[in-house]
Amino acid sequence: MMTKAYIEEAEKALLHTYNRYQVVLERGEGTWLYDIEGKKYLDFVSGIAVFALGYNNKDYNHALKEQIDKLIHTSNYYYNVPAIEAAKKLKRVSGMDRVFFTNSGAEAVEGAIKAARKYAFLKDGKTDHEIIAMNHSFHGRTMGALSVTGNPKYREAFEPMIGNIQFAEMNDFSSVEALVNDKTCGILLETVQGEGGIYPATQEFLEKIKALCEERDILLILDEIQCGMGRTGYMYAWQKYGIRPDIMTTAKALGCGVPVGAFLMTEEVAKRSLTSGDHGTTYGGNPLAAAAVSKVLDLFEENQILENVNRVAPYLETRLDELVKKYDLLLTRRGAGLIQGLVADRPVADIINKALEKGLLLINAGTHIIRFLPALVITKEEVDQMIAILEECLE
Ligand SMILES: *Cc1c(COP(=O)(O)O)cnc(C)c1O
Repeated sequence: MMTKAYIEEAEKALLHTYNRYQVVLERGEGTWLYDIEGKKYLDFVSGIAVFALGYNNKDYNHALKEQIDKLIHTSNYYYNVPAIEAAKKLKRVSGMDRVFFTNSGAEAVEGAIKAARKYAFLKDGKTDHEIIAMNHSFHGRTMGALSVTGNPKYREAFEPMIGNIQFAEMNDFSSVEALVNDKTCGILLETVQGEGGIYPATQEFLEKIKALCEERDILLILDEIQCGMGRTGYMYAWQKYGIRPDIMTTAKALGCGVPVGAFLMTEEVAKRSLTSGDHGTTYGGNPLAAAAVSKVLDLFEENQILENVNRVAPYLETRLDELVKKYDLLLTRRGAGLIQGLVADRPVADIINKALEKGLLLINAGTHIIRFLPALVITKEEVDQMIAILEECLE
């Protein structure tokens, strides 16, 4: 069966919730993907910041195959070695104290919200606590995660939301200050906003929020689902700012393709929030998912992933800045490390479709921004190849 026939079948069977590109992908190798007709694509999406190590990484595949032959799943009512190993390693690279594994990013956000509410509940016994989130944020599609997502378009049809959520403006501290009151239990933001348009938090903004949180015993919750796992050149983006959150979320590249996420917290929060019976999941941190996390974290070190990001990202920035200078329709570049956005004066869908035709995968962030999320093993040569194709599409 060829592409068109598959797409027709897909449209008959799958719920129409995605505007999919007209391609059926079959296999991957490094930073390249192949469709069912054998056409090759340079991939600057990596499954939306998931496949950090590149496709078909033999060490990663081998570790998963070994685990499949041993044990794929047991209940969280029993211990398993991969989850213990994965949690230890995740603690080490994050500098956080306690880990709860989930199956997705949205679930990690759900857990973070519950932990913040429980923390406040244990302090004053009240059930009217508020969370401050940011406009233009994205935290996922489940009801809790949607409730803190600062894009009314995503929320409207599904109202009512979980309630007691306020929205401030990213990088505008006074807008946060204006909302804080005695009910505020958490301030939640992406360290670098992804879907909402690639807006990194400023140093000043994060510092002021951290100070405010300490002063009023409010929990700082950083969503590192997209910008974490090495993408900014730091294992977690907040490490660059020197500001440790009380709770953080991680997912996407955490399992490099095996569905897994986590929320982590400090010991202080762990001691005063979720406890026995408060939270759970059937799959979260099962042996297969945990083996993936464990191997991914090993390979980040062995393959010097952060070093590669810090080598290639400045080059990507330079090459993107050249495009901004050269093409009037490009207004600016924003980003940190290997999460970058080119802001255009018009919708970018046509450019992205042209790129697809020419064998380059790109994705948007909002209608006017081309987003770049390559595998973290990308090379400068591949950056050059990407720029050459993109230029053809911009002409
Ligand atoms: C993708 C994303 C999520 C949601 O993760 P899912 O695994 O799709 O549920 C949450 N927050 C941020 C910042 C994300 O980029």
